[in-house]
Amino acid sequence: MTTTRQDCEVLDAEDSLRELRHQFELPEGLIYLDGNSLGVLPRETAARVQQVLAQEWGRDLIKSWNTAGWIHLPGRIGDKIARLIGAWPGECVVADSTSLNLYKVLAAALQMVARDASPQRRTIVSERSNFPTDLYIAESLARQHGFELKLIAAVEELPAALNDSTAVLMLTQVNYRTGYMHDMAAVTAAAHAAGALTVWDLAHSAGAIPVDLNAAQADFAIGCGYKYLNGGPGAPAFVWVNPRHADRFWQPLSGWLGHAAPFQFTPDYQPAPGIQRYICGTPPILSMAALECGVDTVLAAEPLGGMAALRRKSVALCECFIELAEERCGVLGVRLASPRDAARRGSQVCLSLEAPLHEAGYAVMQALIARGVIGDFRAGDPARLEVLPHILRFGFTPLYVGFADVFDAVEHLHAVLTTEEWRRPEFNKQGAVT
Ligand SMILES: *Cc1c(COP(=O)(O)O)cnc(C)c1O
Repeated sequence: MTTTRQDCEVLDAEDSLRELRHQFELPEGLIYLDGNSLGVLPRETAARVQQVLAQEWGRDLIKSWNTAGWIHLPGRIGDKIARLIGAWPGECVVADSTSLNLYKVLAAALQMVARDASPQRRTIVSERSNFPTDLYIAESLARQHGFELKLIAAVEELPAALNDSTAVLMLTQVNYRTGYMHDMAAVTAAAHAAGALTVWDLAHSAGAIPVDLNAAQADFAIGCGYKYLNGGPGAPAFVWVNPRHADRFWQPLSGWLGHAAPFQFTPDYQPAPGIQRYICGTPPILSMAALECGVDTVLAAEPLGGMAALRRKSVALCECFIELAEERCGVLGVRLASPRDAARRGSQVCLSLEAPLHEAGYAVMQALIARGVIGDFRAGDPARLEVLPHILRFGFTPLYVGFADVFDAVEHLHAVLTTEEWRRPEFNKQGAVT
């Protein structure tokens, strides 16, 4: 036994980010390892939303678009998120959902290629294991605009997939299943060398790992508000466009709040300069208020070392989890399904179960959840479990997860497997959301 619970308690006591945990309404005794799917409720959020309800909406009504600055929320929160992703003020806005923002930027990228590049650039390259909504949106746009979606099965195929027929490389920086993390700067450089544009999905990056979009000279990026940014279920998403492209085309959802002068109510569309044109319609103010509280919980780390410090803790938590899971549960058939190299891994660790436990993953996760250890389960490909196994996914949000939590989570996993508690019928019933 290398790491004891006492060692973990010492690590927690020495953790300079420990105080950030008090920003959250984390239920007592719960070990929450699913901030990669839905971040925890910040303490500030209820009071802030209540203020918007009671005062800004309740009393001030429509005046609040000006007096409470509602109209500036997409840009104001966008500027805050910009600090987490290597962007400058005025380069990022909050709007719509991740899926919708992907639609906007991918359509804009295809439009740019159609206008500027040679006509043989007809493929959108992505990964088969990319998040389904990304692939579905790309599939739809490819059909509409006469492009072909080319999916690589493994990261190693990427260099060969980029060539003079590539229009756009569309990747999620941190893979939602495995946690594999692309080197954004290197991959962007390779795409540019092949003459392609890049679209980065930062759903599992923003607030989780340091991102530097401008240093990487990325072209487009989008991301999610309800994961590591703690914005609440269905929180609005964000969109960033490199300033060198921002004014060059219309995004396809040319709504009135992306107009240069929305309150002149002209019958023709004149896009606002820069990123503002990526706003479509009226922002959801209650959700925006909640999202801002969530983003503020991440910015609260700035005086303590910011994303670099959060990343150091995240890596340490993940390493601790891997070490303990392998040591305690390796003989029980638990295998690491994420990259072992921390430099290639985001803020999550996935485990798979060897035969004869292949099919037990869902039930094992249900049993863990019943014990107060919340992760999630992602089904693999039943026909190719060696390539795409079922996985137990554990996200480590350094804002509120500690080392003792990691230790306890592994002990619970060990108990679920050794007692075979997961065989209980109630853990084998599938809900609508896994
Ligand atoms: C979570 C996630 C999304 C979510 O998209 P929604 O439009 O918010 O449902 C999109 N892409 C990736 C890679 C994700 O992980």
